[in-house]
Formats: sequence, structure tokens, C-alpha cells
Amino acid sequence: MLPEGMKRFKFIGTVVMAGIGCFQFLTSSEASAKGPIESIPKATTYHAPPPGVDYSTNPSVFGQILSGKLPARTLTETTNLLAFEDRSPAAELHGLVIPKRYIESVFSLDSQSRTDIELVQEMHQMGLSLIEEYHPEALASGDYTLCFHIPPFTSVDHLHLHVLAPASSMSWWYGSVKYKCPKRWCVSDMTVLERLQEGKPAVPYNKPFKIFPTR
Ligand SMILES: [Zn+2]
Repeated sequence: MLPEGMKRFKFIGTVVMAGIGCFQFLTSSEASAKGPIESIPKATTYHAPPPGVDYSTNPSVFGQILSGKLPARTLTETTNLLAFEDRSPAAELHGLVIPKRYIESVFSLDSQSRTDIELVQEMHQMGLSLIEEYHPEALASGDYTLCFHIPPFTSVDHLHLHVLAPASSMSWWYGSVKYKCPKRWCVSDMTVLERLQEGKPAVPYNKPFKIFPTR
């Protein structure tokens, strides 16, 4: 259970993100970006949990994707990670890389845990290989974004890395606001990784909502 204060901020975050979505819908005349992954069918797959992981204790919608209760367009999978297409793609390639182990958000990552640091490294590598597979030209020119949203500006309570390529295929709202790092709501995976490796918290904010950085 979340404390009341946190619930309120989470609610505010959800309202802000919903508002952003409506704004995007009203200001964008283009249809959502379509890329080569359109050819991959939307499938319901059962993703075998790694040893010691129990999907039934994952309360998020991604837990249902992992256990095959909800469909997703799977892009790739390893023992620890699953990547699938975002429900509303913001770029020609818009993948989400998630750990199969339940991790609520960047706030749950522990700089003292070798496993957590290696997990973020693995997520970064998977993000890069997806871009290499679907948009090698974007990888070569650095035209991509790999980022995490920071609570309360998260839509799902399960850590997910956004993989967006080409970044230049995003609308102004997505490219310059929603998926723009570093912002209070968005952080690049490399920043998270570097901070964890330096023994710092993943993001320079406290979990109870604070707008200004702590360190
Ligand atoms: Zn997000």
C-alpha cells in the first residue's frame, strides 16, 4: 500500500500524463509512427519466469504481459528481460525493455546490488541491439533515445526502459517533452547506470515527490 501522500502525487502524475496524451492527440495530425515491426504479429506468449521469479506476485500490467494474460508484440527475450512494442508507439521503433523480476521503478534500484547494476547494463545492451536490428542507421548516427520515466510520471508501476528510434521520427511533444532527458520526469539509462556505479541513488530525487534534485 502506498502512503496517502504518494498516492496523491501518483494521481497527479497520471493526470498530467493523460493530459499530455490528449494534447498530443489534439495537436498531431499524423497517424502514429509505423516501422518494420508492423510485420510482427501481436501475440500472446507465455514468458517462462527465470528461477526464483513468480509472476503472480507482480501487481502491474506488465506482470500480465509476462505471464501471457495480456497480448504484446514481443521483440526479443532473454532469461532476465523481455522487450515488446509500446502500446502507443511514439517513434518508428518504440520498444519497452522490462526485467522479468518485479522492480517497481528507478527508485527501487539499489546501488549496493551488483545484480541491479548488471540488470541496467543488460537493459541498455538490449535497447541498443533492438535499434541495431530495426534502425541500424539511427544507431550509427546516434539518433535514438533510451530512457526511464521517474515516478510519479510513470504509467505502469514496473521498471521499463523506453527504446525510441529514430529519435527524429518523434513528434515535437514526444521528442522535446515527454521523452526528453534529463528532466524531472525522464532520465537516460546511462545516467542511471553511472549513478549506481558511483554508489548513488539511481536518480537525484527523493521518492516522496520533490521537484528539485537532492544530489
Ligand atoms: Zn514511461
